[in-house]
Amino acid sequence: MNLPLIQSKIARACKAAGRNTDAASLIAVSKNQTPDTIRLMLQAGQRRFGENRIQDAMEKWPPLRAEFPDVELHFIGQLQSNKAKEAVSLFDVIHTLDRVSLAEALHKEMQKQNRTLPCFIQINTGDEPQKGGIAPADLENFYRFCQEETDLKITGLMCIPPAEEVPDMHFALLHKLGADLGLPGLSMGMSADFEIAIRYGATYVRIGSVLFDVMKN
Ligand SMILES: *Cc1c(COP(=O)(O)O)cnc(C)c1O
Repeated sequence: MNLPLIQSKIARACKAAGRNTDAASLIAVSKNQTPDTIRLMLQAGQRRFGENRIQDAMEKWPPLRAEFPDVELHFIGQLQSNKAKEAVSLFDVIHTLDRVSLAEALHKEMQKQNRTLPCFIQINTGDEPQKGGIAPADLENFYRFCQEETDLKITGLMCIPPAEEVPDMHFALLHKLGADLGLPGLSMGMSADFEIAIRYGATYVRIGSVLFDVMKN
């Protein structure tokens, strides 16, 4: 079980960056895990989880949540507007707000369900055509739209750097964009690069494979 190891690596990276040891929170990305494996992680004390497919999460999480009511679910996948209803009812935080139509759909659903989920705006820091996210140059306009036309609670920015690139400049860019808008939250860093992301100010790291791998053995 890798949870204590990853937790201590996160705390150490925070300290090395001159930040509080709890400045970056772990999201256990359970998208590829069975309920039995997830339950082991819950029994070890982890409560914050990330999923990237609505349908999957709808099947896995309600029973687990009945056992562990204080679970906190983060949506980290591409979100279709027609799944906004399910996303708002099941999840607690959305990390992938990336377009006007989705902002409108989430706003409407949150009003209807009387729920306020903190949202991260996803930024396509590498300008990759196949990836979701607002282009850095369009962020200010999009943020203003969310502030003026919706009740969405925007708490920060999120990115997934291009797989083939050194992530540093992407994390640095996200940090700068967040600081410019006064947004404190930064959702960045995965298994391969979470310690670097913490150096650039990550407040959430999203970790799947290195956290769960050892548990299979
Ligand atoms: C799968 C996924 C992760 C976790 O990736 P690992 O490399 O397994 O840690 C983080 N963020 C997003 C958006 C993902 O889809």
